[in-house]
Amino acid sequence: MLSNQIINWYLQNKRELPWRETKDPYQIWISEIMLQQTRVATAIDYFNRFIEQFPTISDLAKAKEQEVLKLWQGLGYYSRARNLHATAKIIQSQYNGIFPDSYEEILKLKGIGSYTAAAIASFAFNLPHAAVDGNVYRVLSRIYGIDKAIDSTEGKKYFQSIASETMGNARPEIFNQAIIEFGALQCIPRNPKCDICPLFANCFAYNNAQVDQLPIKSKQIKTKNRYFYYLFLSCKSQFLIEKREKKDIWENLFQYPLIEYNKPIPTDELLQTLEWKELFGNKNMLIHSVSGNVLHKLSHQNLHTTFIHIEMDIKKLKKNTDYKIINYSEIPNYPFPKLIEDHLNMIVKNNT
Ligand code: SF4
Repeated sequence: MLSNQIINWYLQNKRELPWRETKDPYQIWISEIMLQQTRVATAIDYFNRFIEQFPTISDLAKAKEQEVLKLWQGLGYYSRARNLHATAKIIQSQYNGIFPDSYEEILKLKGIGSYTAAAIASFAFNLPHAAVDGNVYRVLSRIYGIDKAIDSTEGKKYFQSIASETMGNARPEIFNQAIIEFGALQCIPRNPKCDICPLFANCFAYNNAQVDQLPIKSKQIKTKNRYFYYLFLSCKSQFLIEKREKKDIWENLFQYPLIEYNKPIPTDELLQTLEWKELFGNKNMLIHSVSGNVLHKLSHQNLHTTFIHIEMDIKKLKKNTDYKIINYSEIPNYPFPKLIEDHLNMIVKNNT
């Protein structure tokens, strides 16, 4: 039986991971949210630090959002952290701080979709729900030769039913872990290890030379180019930051004052723009340095970034704006996107 073969493979090949050592739905939930869009190796340290600082739902519910975002700094997709925090508060107030123990109730929680609900329901409570993530789509599409698009409603429904059938009477907790791990380590997106695969004899894709064609996606999401000009405004060991408020990437994280364009613009033209003139007027300033293009890639956005280091009396600027003046020693108190964090690390290193 396919489920037994996958489980046997898992028992011999699985990685030791901290979230596999627990049945605590809270910890499993944190790990699942972290693992969305993040590699396992990266998530381990973040997970351990997070659980150390917020060992229970109640600790997370009581935390300030800024603390949660700071712990999340560098992981990206910050709405995940905001949703976790909001959901912890809901569990605390509406469920007496006890994580719900049915798939349907788990699915009602903010930021939890069908995959995560099934993962928590099966890993923590051994409930029979097949957890279908990108790994599972890949494994099932290749083994059975399924050519339905994995990002279509019809395809999702179909894969969910095939995953449930494949699970059969196997223990949900082990089967789900096993097939996800199989996709993560064995049946990987490029160059899967078919030559040492225990399933190759019955694998449709392998036997029909379609490994590279499966799974199928219907839409290709376009990558958007954005042009960021970050103004690092400093005076001795102080500099300016602002909170990103808009519904955009990095909401509620901190950054330097930003001028954004939809096309690249030379620095001398930037100095003539309305944004620049509104910000600086006739104030005295010294452009200390202008960086080259720093390309920061997000999943569907390329941020072409230039850092402009300006020395000036920043207190004068603050009178007209919402900017916050902070000292280098206060950097650990604020969550920054990785792009800013890397720049700050360089600045601090050059000043110590
Ligand atoms: S034979 Fe290759 S494509 Fe088929 S399940 Fe194994 S690793 Fe995946």
